[in-house]
Amino acid sequence: MPKDFLAGVQPHYDVVVIGSGLGGLTAANILAREGRSVLLLEQHYKLGGLATWFKRPGGHLFDISLHGFPYGMFKSCRRYWNEKIAASIVQLHGIRFDNPMFSLTTTFDRKHFTDLLSGKFGLELKTVDEFFTTARSMNFYDDQSVTTRQLFDRFFPGREDVIRLLMEPITYANGSTLEDPALTYGIVFSNFMSKGVYTFEGGTDGLVNAMEAEMRQNNVDIRIRCNAEKIGLKEGRVHSIQVNGREIRTDAIVSNANLNATIFGMVGEERLDRGFADQARAVRLNSSSTQVYMALGPDDEIDRDTGDLLFCSTAEKFDTDLLLSRKITSRTFSFYYPDIRPQAKSRYLIVSSTNARYEDWASLNDEEYSASKAELVGTTLDALEKYVPNCRERIVHAEAATPRTFEHYTQHLAGASFGTKFEGLAVSRALPEQIPGLYHAGSCGIIMSGWLGTINYGVIVANDVMNFLSAEPAVAPN
Ligand SMILES: Cc1cc2nc3c(=O)[nH]c(=O)nc-3n(C[C@H](O)[C@H](O)[C@H](O)COP(=O)(O)OP(=O)(O)OC[C@H]3O[C@@H](n4cnc5c(N)ncnc54)[C@H](O)[C@@H]3O)c2cc1C
Repeated sequence: MPKDFLAGVQPHYDVVVIGSGLGGLTAANILAREGRSVLLLEQHYKLGGLATWFKRPGGHLFDISLHGFPYGMFKSCRRYWNEKIAASIVQLHGIRFDNPMFSLTTTFDRKHFTDLLSGKFGLELKTVDEFFTTARSMNFYDDQSVTTRQLFDRFFPGREDVIRLLMEPITYANGSTLEDPALTYGIVFSNFMSKGVYTFEGGTDGLVNAMEAEMRQNNVDIRIRCNAEKIGLKEGRVHSIQVNGREIRTDAIVSNANLNATIFGMVGEERLDRGFADQARAVRLNSSSTQVYMALGPDDEIDRDTGDLLFCSTAEKFDTDLLLSRKITSRTFSFYYPDIRPQAKSRYLIVSSTNARYEDWASLNDEEYSASKAELVGTTLDALEKYVPNCRERIVHAEAATPRTFEHYTQHLAGASFGTKFEGLAVSRALPEQIPGLYHAGSCGIIMSGWLGTINYGVIVANDVMNFLSAEPAVAPN
């Protein structure tokens, strides 16, 4: 008999959280801490969503999305998780750029960027200060018609080199482009500039395992291999969830799954106002990614001066189309030194990440797909040679992931790495007005993506759910 992953489940929960990405985990933890009964459903066999890792023979342990996040994670983890998790957050000091326009190393914070922009790039200090102040003051309610390109043109007209320095890491961090609303740039850029770039000592496994322990302590009922199929409604409100063919009663649902998959897959547009369904259908997915995971042999090592994060490109200038192109010119290399996982075997690992289009990979047949992955590994090793000499001989394990890989493991439509474009946020926020009791907390709207963005969105939505449940009369399980 197949294992019943729902064995012992309760007939009713105050809240069901669909998906264990960082947004779902955080919402589940806060709601349980507040005394609500919470069922967390994850379709995969592991928690974490895109915040995940995998092991390969030889003691190699690769992180998928642990490359860097802003300092705000410290505050969010301390407040909504625990002191121990927050205490493992450490700064990355070696952020490097190498492209035909410039090569430099930075701590990626406002002070060093001010020095760079006014020194190496020769800009007026006053202009640099005004730019930082403008970016810092941006918020969700700002004029959304101003694009990031217009913001740059206002402060740094004709300075493609400056635009590249300011934009390349943010495009990598949240998939935003020069054509997106400036506030999607300003908010994320300012988050990083406040204190630099951070990582989690202990690796993604360390973080997610610590989060799981905290949730268990708070009595979250955690179920893996449980695919949420349909959201049940009664008189237009959330009534139940159908999961692995079984129906469980609930008063509220937080979906951490892809926004469009939640609306069109789990709800169904026939249950929505026409205008809302049209608005949701118009939401564009964000881009996806390719990655190459590489490990050095057990007795080999990488010089620490190689840096932690390297934004390298052979393109003459910053260009969104080029960044997404199958003909890769830009890569972000993350170098992992043994101190990232003091508890594990001493290993030097490298992960190369590139933004990518799902369409470029979706229709390849098996043979073409394997050949394309092999080509991706080969061209990545060619690019790495400049920074890790003789890498072809030294790398003992290399493999690639594509947009299809991300789609397969997370059910994100088109393998979207950062959820949806900006218009997705309004749809995500309006969902409870359509269906009382149904909330979405997960990558969307560019600013609500990334480790910090999704954790913070989980916090916002958990508060919404708490208010909703407090206003509701208690419902008897039936
Ligand atoms: C290659 C790459 C590199 C990245 N690098 C960084 C970085 O350096 N810094 C950073 O801050 N961010 C980075 N990110 C982004 C970051 O990882 C994500 O934005 C964040 O982890 C997403 O969290 P989420 O809460 O939206 O949930 P997700 O991680 O998207 O998880 C959603 C979960 O829902 C589950 N699910 C879906 N459908 C169902 C269903 N029907 N039933 C049950 N479960 C379901 C999925 O299995 C998944 O576990 C990167 C992303 C990628 C892809």
